[in-house]
Amino acid sequence: MRTCNICNSPEKIELERMYREGKTIKSIEQYCREHNYNFTYGMLYYHFKNHLIRDNDTIPIPTNLINRLINNLEICDRKISEMINSNQIEPNILIRYISEIRHTVVELRNLLKEYNVKETKPESIFNMILSLMHDLPEEWIKKFQERYLKWRENPNLSPIYY
Ligand SMILES: [Zn+2]
Repeated sequence: MRTCNICNSPEKIELERMYREGKTIKSIEQYCREHNYNFTYGMLYYHFKNHLIRDNDTIPIPTNLINRLINNLEICDRKISEMINSNQIEPNILIRYISEIRHTVVELRNLLKEYNVKETKPESIFNMILSLMHDLPEEWIKKFQERYLKWRENPNLSPIYY
């Protein structure tokens, strides 16, 4: 079995942090040269591709992709707030921003899938919410269960129809 110099080095955490922050392997190689760490591009590549995945079962999502999605949501949030504050609500434009939010969330879901981020099972979320509701009126709990079942049948239906 091939041994990995990086796994056995004290610089491991520092280099992995750089990689997770979205630095390219090439720029990390440059950093190593400047600090007299004896790691080649090949060693870095081998470690990040093989050992990082095995450690966490995930690949770090490039931060620029996440930032783009967050930026999108912030624009929608700002536009909707502006519209509400100015008291000039134009339903067509409002719907456009809401559908843009949905589109962004779908893109985020695809991104998580692509990067093998584990999804939380809906059932475990459902049970968690139920346990959080334990001391609320029984009527509310029943209503929540009904809505959940409707949502299970048709997850794409807008919540306002429940
Ligand atoms: Zn390694």
